[in-house]
Amino acid sequence: MNVLVTGGAGYIGSVCVEALLDAGHRVTVLDNLSEGHRSAVDARAAFVEGCLSDAAKVRATLQQSGAEVILHFAASALVGESMAQPGKYFRNNVANGLTLLEAAVAAGVRKFVFSSTCATYGIPDVVPIAEEAPQQPVNPYGESKLIFEKLLRWFHRIHGLEFVAFRYFNAAGASERFGEHHRVEAHLIPNVLKVALGQTPHCEIFGADYPTPDGTCVRDYVHILDLAQAHILAMQPGKQGFFNLGNGDGYSVREVIRACEKISGQAIKALEKPHRPGDPPRLVAAATKAINELGWRPKYPKLDDIVATAWRWHQRHPNGYAD
Ligand code: UDP
Repeated sequence: MNVLVTGGAGYIGSVCVEALLDAGHRVTVLDNLSEGHRSAVDARAAFVEGCLSDAAKVRATLQQSGAEVILHFAASALVGESMAQPGKYFRNNVANGLTLLEAAVAAGVRKFVFSSTCATYGIPDVVPIAEEAPQQPVNPYGESKLIFEKLLRWFHRIHGLEFVAFRYFNAAGASERFGEHHRVEAHLIPNVLKVALGQTPHCEIFGADYPTPDGTCVRDYVHILDLAQAHILAMQPGKQGFFNLGNGDGYSVREVIRACEKISGQAIKALEKPHRPGDPPRLVAAATKAINELGWRPKYPKLDDIVATAWRWHQRHPNGYAD
């Protein structure tokens, strides 16, 4: 199939591009490289540097690629940043996403696969969280993704556009070739592994008095190769709707740090800091819908295995991508 991947130079997008190519699909990546890296784009893919705010470029790229399916990863995706710059989140994730959505309908795209997030649930009443749980985001990042989910519902109803929206829990790990490198690293696992690599003296725990067993936030970590597999399954005709992608196991920040110590064999110093604004205490997926309806079978459900792949990638790429 011809697939257009927005954000294909980013962390999750780059690994999905690799998996799509391995599965025999033809891939065009559209990315403005604001967060992504040119060298994270598999050489077998066509690459177009451009921004989703540029409607003419989006339309031309869709036409040239002959895309039947769009995988839409491009987004701003940091909870903390969204609490400081909400406009950036609504512009990039809603307004620019809408430009892509309208172009997709005009080009007769068959399927739209969207990267949504568990941040759309806000602070859940019931954990594990099922897809039908109330969605009351507590940060602009989650709100921006929820608004786009609603746009998808309307475009499906009015234009018949088939979509799958994946609510990712915490993407982590690496493939053999592609891994996690943000220019300003905000995520837990890469920041903890930087200490193991000797690049920083300590990591930080954002809040140790949450209502969780050890006081630190609990998250459900899911391997990016498993996320990639879910996207390929979602491309099948007839697959439609909203799906959680997580493993159903919650790990606290302290448990993640301990896993990183075990895998790296290094002691990791951690300092307790205040809460990061916008962080819910506990986010764990009920992910049976993806298993039952898409046939999703995660290969790396255990945190140690996820961290091991991340550790291997960071050891090989201590400074991330060159560009
Ligand atoms: N976190 C932390 N120290 C860090 C980065 C993150 O304690 O250096 C916490 C963060 O507050 C959250 C969890 O780790 O509770 C996961 O954060 P991350 O940014 O990796 O993903 P998010 O859950 O925001 O998508």
